Order: sequence, then C-alpha cells, then structure tokens
Amino acid sequence: MKEKVLIFGHKNPDTDSICSSIVREILDKKNGWEDTKAVRLGNINKETQYVLNYLGIEAPELIESVEEGQEVILVDHNEFGQSVEGIGKAKILSVTDHHRIANFETVEPLYYNAKPYGCTSTILFEEFKTHNHKIDKKEAILMASAIISDTLLLKSPTTTKYDIKALEELEKIVGIDIKEYGLEMLKAGTDLDDFTAEELVNLDAKSLDKNGVKFVIAQVNTVSIPEVLKRQEELETAIKNEIDKNGLNIFVLAITDILNSNSEIIALGDKVEIVEKGFNTKLENNRAFLKGVVSRKKQLLPNIDKKL
Ligand code: MG
Ligand code: MG
Ligand code: MG
Repeated sequence: MKEKVLIFGHKNPDTDSICSSIVREILDKKNGWEDTKAVRLGNINKETQYVLNYLGIEAPELIESVEEGQEVILVDHNEFGQSVEGIGKAKILSVTDHHRIANFETVEPLYYNAKPYGCTSTILFEEFKTHNHKIDKKEAILMASAIISDTLLLKSPTTTKYDIKALEELEKIVGIDIKEYGLEMLKAGTDLDDFTAEELVNLDAKSLDKNGVKFVIAQVNTVSIPEVLKRQEELETAIKNEIDKNGLNIFVLAITDILNSNSEIIALGDKVEIVEKGFNTKLENNRAFLKGVVSRKKQLLPNIDKKL
C-alpha cells in the first residue's frame, strides 16, 4: 500500500496547528485527495485538549521524523526549523500558512496558499467557500477554536477583517456563544500548575537565528501574570539551561495576560540589550512589562528583529 501523505503543523503544536491539520485532511478528502492523514509533531497542550474533549475526538498521531521522499502537507508553518525532523528530504506537496516565508525551499512545484491572516484556519475557511463545501458543526468548532486561539478572541493585532468575518460565520454554524466558549478554551490553556519550569519555557517556543544572533521567543498565556511570576526563579534556571544547551544569545519568555492584553517578559542572555532597545525599556530583575503586547508575530518578533 502507498504511504499516506502526512499533514502537520509546527513543533510545539498550538491549537491552530492541530485543528488546521485535522481540517486540512477533511478538506483534502472532500476534494478527492483520499490518502492524506493529519499527524502532530508534539504534545497536545491543555487549550487544544479542551477542543478535542469538547468534540470528543482523538488527537492526531504523534510522529518524530519523516523518511526521505515522504510526501507531506504543511499547515501553520513553513520554516524548516519549526518542522519535522527530516523535512529537508521530504516531498512537500502543499502549504497552507499565515507566517512569513523563510528558510523554505522545495525541489518541485507545489500548492502554496499563504495569506497574512490571523490564523491558518481562516484560510481554510475560505477554501471551503471557494470549493463550495458545506461546513458542519465539527469543522466549524475546529476552525473557530483555531481562530480564537491565534487571535486571542480577535483581540490580538494579528487579527484581520477576514478572521472576524470567518468567526462570525462559524459562530452561526455552531450555534453557541463563541465568546463564552472561547474564553473557557483560552482559560483551559492557562492552567500551568502541573508543568515543570522546563516544560513551561518550551511549551510554545520559537527559535530564530538572524545575523549570527540565536534567540528564542517563548510565550505562555495566563489570566494572572503575578501568579506565573511566583515561579520566576525556577523559570530563570530553566531558561539558563536552554541558553547553555542551545548556545542562545537571547531567550525571551513572554507571559501574556489574555484578559487584559498585556505581557510581562523575562529576558536572559548575553545580548538582552537588543530586547531593551527593541522595546525602549530597561529590564529590571530581568523583567519588563509590555503594555498592549500580546503577539509574538506582530509585536515581540519584529521589535527584536529590527535591532539585529
Ligand atoms: Mg501556530
Ligand atoms: Mg497559526
Ligand atoms: Mg500562537
């Protein structure tokens, strides 16, 4: 039997990566692409687990690496550094993504659907429309959850009018109060109690490398920044370990208050002055409060990036 085409989002999968993989598989099958299968590259976080429990569905299977020549479909990422082990020798058939395109290259032509929207699922929502497929309740919950997660209930500056429109339509299909559902879902993701400090700093971490500066921006969502800061000491130890282990110059952990849309960052490393310059702030006790900052993609990353 022919190997299945594997569909997956990025490492440290978030709700968009998981939900969009599942929806991508459904959509591909509707379009006659039968041999596709959603998989995942890491543990399911508590927010995503809330969605899977709500729908009573299983998480996609976990994979660690792919063989040379494996056919794959990427969602919610394109950079090889964020993808599966062995991606450089896989055959990428299609990409659906809402990130910058970087460190990405293929040998053969491919389908590539990139839109600067707030969420991959908003792009998938439009694909349903383009192909005249009806969206059922399960599909609507999956896409709505991804949009709520990536845009923090449409409050993140990454939110576009397309995300707003998609969520409005999806809310009608699911027939529930999407704000209420979304808040419960986001809150489920802020239960950080049984994570070790090491797990916390790796939960949602993206590593980047620019002009010889290696840095990581990690993010955790919370409903109480002071609650997370009670663990500052052990978080710093975990961050220092990551810096030593991976030869990093900067590690930023953003603790994001999803109710008030602010973040407190903890920043360590031998080049933290870049972070200070980027946000025009001084770190005190390795920390800084960033008012109105919630988005890694639109706020954290570009402000650091421009000083590199
Ligand atoms: Mg993502
Ligand atoms: Mg996304
Ligand atoms: Mg995210």
